[in-house]
Amino acid sequence: MSTMVIDGKPASARSGATVEIHDPATGELVDKVPQAGVEETRQAIDAAHAAFRGWADTVPQKRAQILMKGAALARQHLDEVATLLTREQGKPLRDSKIEAERFVENIEYYAMLSASGAIRGKHVQLSVPGAFGLVVRRPLGVVGAIIPWNFPLTLLANKIAPALAVGNTVVAKPASTTPLSTIRLVELMNEGGLPPGVLNVVVGPGAVVGQELIKNPKVRKIGFTGETQTGKQVMAEAASDLKHVTLELGGSDPAIVCDDADLEQASKAIAIGRFFNAGQACLAVKRVYVFESVADQLIEKLAARAKKLKVAPGSDAASQMGPMHTAGGREGIEAQLKDALDRGARLVAGGKRLSGAPYDGGFFFEPTIVTDVPWEARVWREETFGPLLPIARVKDLDEAFERANDSEFGLGSSIFTRDLKRAQLGIDRLDAGYTWVNTIQVAYDELPFGGTKHSGFGKEHGVEVLDFYTEQKSAVVAGV
Ligand code: NAD
Repeated sequence: MSTMVIDGKPASARSGATVEIHDPATGELVDKVPQAGVEETRQAIDAAHAAFRGWADTVPQKRAQILMKGAALARQHLDEVATLLTREQGKPLRDSKIEAERFVENIEYYAMLSASGAIRGKHVQLSVPGAFGLVVRRPLGVVGAIIPWNFPLTLLANKIAPALAVGNTVVAKPASTTPLSTIRLVELMNEGGLPPGVLNVVVGPGAVVGQELIKNPKVRKIGFTGETQTGKQVMAEAASDLKHVTLELGGSDPAIVCDDADLEQASKAIAIGRFFNAGQACLAVKRVYVFESVADQLIEKLAARAKKLKVAPGSDAASQMGPMHTAGGREGIEAQLKDALDRGARLVAGGKRLSGAPYDGGFFFEPTIVTDVPWEARVWREETFGPLLPIARVKDLDEAFERANDSEFGLGSSIFTRDLKRAQLGIDRLDAGYTWVNTIQVAYDELPFGGTKHSGFGKEHGVEVLDFYTEQKSAVVAGV
């Protein structure tokens, strides 16, 4: 049985309660993990609080060396971590490996950034003789990192890498269905030499563990990724203690395909963008708006790509798309699809559960595409968190922008065109935290990432994330 990690040591729950982790491809029990209550969560917060001063006072180069050592250990265990991730989450093994590798790279990126002296304050000349001002950056203290199940390792790294690099300490809370790969990485990072208490992991329900992190006054910042509804609750509750919050929430990313686009390139990027991780990505392409004159060609290409995708358990080396993560998630997609079809949409690929061996024990669903979807359909308004892609025909760029922006979400967006002017307009007019032009929607360490509108606020990635894990303090030095 895996255990939690509190104060650098394996930790169990006093109640003896456990969380069972099941394989979404087969339903088999993979492992059990102790289920924390308020008591264990407080222990972890206290450990992180006690470790804070020492870690914050450690020089950046030394912090970076320790983080790099943990990252190197994690790199040696990529296969083990990836296998755990596939078993608990469902994604194909090769995608799990990429995700585990991204975790390592993210830790390395922020370790190097902090060691390089890139995190700077300011010297300010004052209008007073014999005095000068400084603006210094200080870590915040204990950070609560609350993570969903869809990309547990990427989203863990997005928070702990910048937080630890600048001297904060962390209590991480993975989703209860995907704690195993997270626990293993936290163990390895601790083995790398993090002082006890600097990085802890506790497992348990959001309503208990998450709530304690949000309400405990020793926690100064919540880095949250999850559903918009949960994020709003987190923000309201964190307000009572005036905690810093970063909220990375839901998305319904539009892709616009113009009549001058390279349709081969567009269809490839959109198919990957929609069906990667069985469509369960915040940054997935969730709506397509294509110019009428090229719509039939694009639809044909996308349908062909959807039908060709190899859907299989993640442990099958040939798998390109695994099961959905939960029964409820699959039912949600089925309900959105039914709503669209009932309103007159046309099904051009997929549309049903997969059955027979090896599918019966898992939550498999075909890569699915619908066209001619009426504007009242739920798929245009709600987040579709699974392998379901609606496509609409538009007459021009103005209509495409209007439809694309007609959403409460504003996470990512993309535009496919060979015309620089159209690309520039896309960047200017799409209401989203990110716009990709002629390429796949992926987040880069070097660029800040985060949504507008109901997709959240605050940034992860880039040097910009450091604004969200430090606070600026002014100082005046006189008598000089
Ligand atoms: P969720 O909101 O149900 O859960 C996310 C985490 O919050 C889990 O660890 C959960 O235990 C915890 N939690 C739940 N209720 C809580 C509460 N009341 N207090 C404190 N913690 C609580 O989200 P999910 O279903 O696991 O994840 C899918 C969602 O996440 C989708 O909407 C997706 O778009 C979004 N997401 C966003 C990004 C991004 O970067 N913007 C990335 C990935 C996923």
